[in-house]
Amino acid sequence: MMDQSTDCLFCRVIAGKLPAKKVYEDKHVFAFEDINPQAPTHVLIVPKKHLSGLKEATAKDADTIGRCHLAAAEIARQRGIENGYRTVLNVGSGAGQSVFHLHVHLLGGRNLGWPPG
Ligand code: 5GP
Ligand code: ZN
Repeated sequence: MMDQSTDCLFCRVIAGKLPAKKVYEDKHVFAFEDINPQAPTHVLIVPKKHLSGLKEATAKDADTIGRCHLAAAEIARQRGIENGYRTVLNVGSGAGQSVFHLHVHLLGGRNLGWPPG
């Protein structure tokens, strides 16, 4: 059986096996700076428990996914970017998902166009 903690990039970050700039952590959620930021604030918020993506989520994951979004709101509050920020979940390779451990992007600190690309 595949060991997610060694094979998944974000599981490795959570386990401290891959360095990352940690922003927030609680029992369920881990957040860190994106390595290739697309805005002055670009934080990734991930569930500590491995979950490939939103497509794979079921009702038992509702609390975890909700907590990721609430963590994003808290980080945005702390950083004073509440005038306008965006949370993004890329779902599937066609939408740009490149890491298959569910993650919420928190983007802010600049004007954000709509619709996104
Ligand atoms: P996706 O394209 O899957 O929605 O988002 C993956 C994000 O992870 C990208 O924004 C990318 O810059 C970021 N990323 C990829 N590898 C690493 C890494 O090793 N460390 C950090 N901190 N971010 C990463
Ligand atoms: Zn993982």
